[in-house]
Amino acid sequence: MGDDPRRRVPRTDVLLADPALTAAAGTVGRDRVKAAVRAAQARARRGEITPDRVRDAALAALPPPLPRRVVNATGVLLHTNLGRAALSDAAVAALVAAAGHTDVELDLDTGRRARRGRDAVAALAAAVPDAAAVHVVNNGAAALALAATALAADAEIVVSRGELVEIGDGFRLPDLLTSTGARLREVGTTNRTTLADYAAAVGPRTGFVLKVHPSNFRVTGFTAAVPVGDLATLGVPVVVDIGSGLLAPDPLLPDEPDAATTLRAGAALVTASGDKLLGGPQAGLLLGQADLVHRLRRHPLARALRVDKLTLAALTATLGGPATPTHTALHTDPGDLRVRTDRLRESLVADGCAAEVVPAVAVVGGGGAPGVELASWALALPERYAAPLRLGDPPVLGRVVRGRLLLDLRGVPAAADEAVRAAVLAVTGAT
Ligand SMILES: *Cc1c(COP(=O)(O)O)cnc(C)c1O
Repeated sequence: MGDDPRRRVPRTDVLLADPALTAAAGTVGRDRVKAAVRAAQARARRGEITPDRVRDAALAALPPPLPRRVVNATGVLLHTNLGRAALSDAAVAALVAAAGHTDVELDLDTGRRARRGRDAVAALAAAVPDAAAVHVVNNGAAALALAATALAADAEIVVSRGELVEIGDGFRLPDLLTSTGARLREVGTTNRTTLADYAAAVGPRTGFVLKVHPSNFRVTGFTAAVPVGDLATLGVPVVVDIGSGLLAPDPLLPDEPDAATTLRAGAALVTASGDKLLGGPQAGLLLGQADLVHRLRRHPLARALRVDKLTLAALTATLGGPATPTHTALHTDPGDLRVRTDRLRESLVADGCAAEVVPAVAVVGGGGAPGVELASWALALPERYAAPLRLGDPPVLGRVVRGRLLLDLRGVPAAADEAVRAAVLAVTGAT
């Protein structure tokens, strides 16, 4: 028995002092690491693994840190499955700072309670001077639900049949709206709705007229929709769900409505998401007339839709900070993308990995700017590398087009090019 490898199983205290296992204890807790170590030791004693594998077996049995950070080389800039907008460094720093105790609801000068989220509200108001008042809730759907509840419970929401959309994941706007107790008064048809249609439906039972931007599809051909300016003549509040969170016009996205222009056209209230084109955290933005925003803010439901301090911090930093990664990805010149992609290819080829550079088309995605095609360039690899890259560390997600895997750098921060290079080399086996 003297030479029985089972007797060489490392001791618990030795394993727990291992740097990798100590680091893991810092994230998943010492108890879990201990349990993983004991289980690995037991496997070694049973002869299932050799004693020198105990440390790695314990590490492998620990839960991976969640969520996994991934590289979005899909060419879909706001990918809902990948968490939509990636936050700016400024927003990340604000999130981290906000994780401790903060002055979120306290005025440090007076020592008295202060309005929660006042910094985010001030930053949003400063970004959209056309809004008399603003409020922030949990997401775009919450903004709509609050508007419907506070302004149209037991009343009618007049809305075009062409705008009763499904947002995603099976959630449909009409169901969301009626779940609040509001009744829908549908007008017009799928492809055409006129001002006369709205006018015929508006009356004493009207809570508001709703206009929803079709942000994830387009109706083309024989179509008609009524501009906000015309709806504003109907004598009832016009609520506009612009979707993407664009605050001011972007010449690159001529068909995407923005909050400032929509308010100036006469909208009483605009609702939008924080994590689409605004490039911030998940949030619902409400901008508009002071009396309406005040009613929303004071409604009991507002408390249930309240945003947490992390979101408020990230939103404030997004609104007041430098260009977001979303903005940068959207506005990067295709020529610059080509230079980056060529450089990546050359360095891969130098390491023995064959790859090509091909023209590609990126899209905004995530419920924004359907039909907008952004010229881009992609690294093309054989399709068989798609799964190993997805399962790599970090996972790199591309897009398979006609038997080839395309890695589009438009949505990848330039600082991550090196990680893409290393990931490709790892899966293609080149050195
Ligand atoms: C995305 C979107 C929503 C839902 O917003 P969330 O922030 O995802 O809740 C609602 N309406 C429109 C028009 C949208 O584009």
